[in-house]
Amino acid sequence: MTLRLWLLGAGIAQSPSPSMQNAALAAAGVEGSYTLRDCDAAGLAEAVAELRSGSAQGANVTIPHKRAAAALCDRLEGDAALLGAVNTLAVEGGAVIGANTDALGFEGAMREHRLWPAPGAAAVVLGAGGAATAVVLALSRAQAEWIGVAARRVERAQACTERFQSAGAATRGAGPPANQSAHVVVPLGFDDPALRRHLGGATLVVNATPAGLAALPVDVDALDPEAVVVDLRYRPRPVDLVAAATASGRRGADGLGMLLHQGMLSFQRWTGLPAPWEAARAALHAAVGESV
Ligand code: NAP
Repeated sequence: MTLRLWLLGAGIAQSPSPSMQNAALAAAGVEGSYTLRDCDAAGLAEAVAELRSGSAQGANVTIPHKRAAAALCDRLEGDAALLGAVNTLAVEGGAVIGANTDALGFEGAMREHRLWPAPGAAAVVLGAGGAATAVVLALSRAQAEWIGVAARRVERAQACTERFQSAGAATRGAGPPANQSAHVVVPLGFDDPALRRHLGGATLVVNATPAGLAALPVDVDALDPEAVVVDLRYRPRPVDLVAAATASGRRGADGLGMLLHQGMLSFQRWTGLPAPWEAARAALHAAVGESV
């Protein structure tokens, strides 16, 4: 059977995912194609109905449809059920299954770059959307001791942390990370005076917003010299926050590694085959104008 796969999202014309996934299909000897399907909410519902009727075998879902896609699925599995958002759709027996590979993709990239935090880490995640929530889930699994979720609208940060409260993690008000023994997930506003202190004490800072350095409440020089700085953006390259962090001697990574890892987890979900990492990595780097 020819595998037909889509990327569902809005404003996705520049996505490097088709290059990566088509290279992976070819390297694995799978006949098929992965194509962009730019759609609005109605178009998303049409695409999911077409998946259910067998017109295609799988899809990735990106901004702004991850939550809406979850609501259209017949069943959610794994992290998708925890996050209430999907980035991967698979079809089994006429049912559309929603999965989410973002948290495991983040973890895989962090481990590959040797940036995965040791238990007891204090982290600040900037942003409170789908990607930030997946990062918080991943960091909870890393047994981070304290996770601050900072957003320009504190109510969005609150909504993100409440998800972890209901999932069993404690949340409580601001306090110095070093003095907290329980695993806590704390909401903060970008304008919260405590944010600067938390950033200064963090062992890991993750930008999970589409905003660049100039729009973020981060002074790289005021971060801990040992802090790891990660930005989920991968364009424009070099990613300014990561470039500033590495220029000051800190370790960091942009979002290209996460894109690779979440994409290959999707590939494995659709095909049941091992991911052809090197072919996918080379195609992804070529698509953003770099060699591996
Ligand atoms: P999302 O659900 O729309 O959430 C975006 C978050 O960023 C929200 O908290 C939003 O705050 C905030 N934000 C937006 N513009 C901002 C600005 N100018 N200043 C400060 N905060 C701003 O999007 P998402 O899916 O979480 O994606 C977030 C970022 O991660 C995007 O850049 C996306 O490309 C990237 N991402 C990368 C990967 C990867 O594999 N590398 C995977 C997923 C996502 P408001 O609620 O106030 O708007």
